[in-house]
Amino acid sequence: MRDFDYKKSLGQNFLKDNNIIKKIVCTPDKKNKNLVIEIGPGAGALSIELVKNYDRVIMYEIDIRLKSILEEKLSDYENYEIIFDDFLNRDVLKDIEKYEYDNLYIVANLPYYVTTPIIMKIIKDNLPINEMVIMIQKEVADRFSSTPGSKEYGQITVFLQYFFEITKVCNVSKNSFIPKPKVDSSVIRMKKRDELLYLKDFNYFEKLVRDSFRFKRKTIKNNLNDYDLNIINSVLSKYGYSINSRSEELSYNIFVDISNELCSK
Ligand code: SAM
Repeated sequence: MRDFDYKKSLGQNFLKDNNIIKKIVCTPDKKNKNLVIEIGPGAGALSIELVKNYDRVIMYEIDIRLKSILEEKLSDYENYEIIFDDFLNRDVLKDIEKYEYDNLYIVANLPYYVTTPIIMKIIKDNLPINEMVIMIQKEVADRFSSTPGSKEYGQITVFLQYFFEITKVCNVSKNSFIPKPKVDSSVIRMKKRDELLYLKDFNYFEKLVRDSFRFKRKTIKNNLNDYDLNIINSVLSKYGYSINSRSEELSYNIFVDISNELCSK
């Protein structure tokens, strides 16, 4: 886009690679009514494919300067709404209540400076989504999609994997964007789990996971010495671990089990 003054502070790196755009926007099951939310449509590189493939598209764009560019790009379509506002400040459930849908998706090339706040908002707002396909910074994608035992595995991995099955779709070169960003990117798919494991107290689970990763590479005994280590040890032994194991080795369901056991005492 010639003459557009890209704002680095808003994470404005626009996609220009059609192959990547096709990997992000997959065709949903047409038998259902599909509603998709796009966060940060920019100049509409993804949006144009979304309006072609989904029944309805709701976009949130913070930068009002993109209004005429987006409206021109989408001028052949009517199945969309653009909300020019900060996604983080919106009551999204209220915004979508007027639409009828069977499936709700989120598709976005996210502004990297607010990746985690945006994902946290989606979780805390309890949006009834089926799946998110998002482009994020590669290091962050590696952390989100990592498995127990790998060096990227941490607090945020456990927390997100409680809600989602996370897989990497592809890595994306810096050359796929204009302007070229400093960091590499990846596309990940976050599929909402059909049934979430029962948790007695969600806030307790959050704190337990946070404390478990307080000091990297320390044992559970060291990180959780304020908790009842006998209870923790008896849960861990069911899975072949002990309080001398490290939190990095444990899958999210083990933290759920520990949290529920500690809560009942
Ligand atoms: N989707 C476009 C693409 O792939 O070419 C643009 C992606 S660009 C990485 C991120 C977009 O998010 C920019 O258009 C930026 O203005 C917008 N944005 C940044 N912060 C936002 C926020 N808090 N709420 C809504 N949009 C935001």
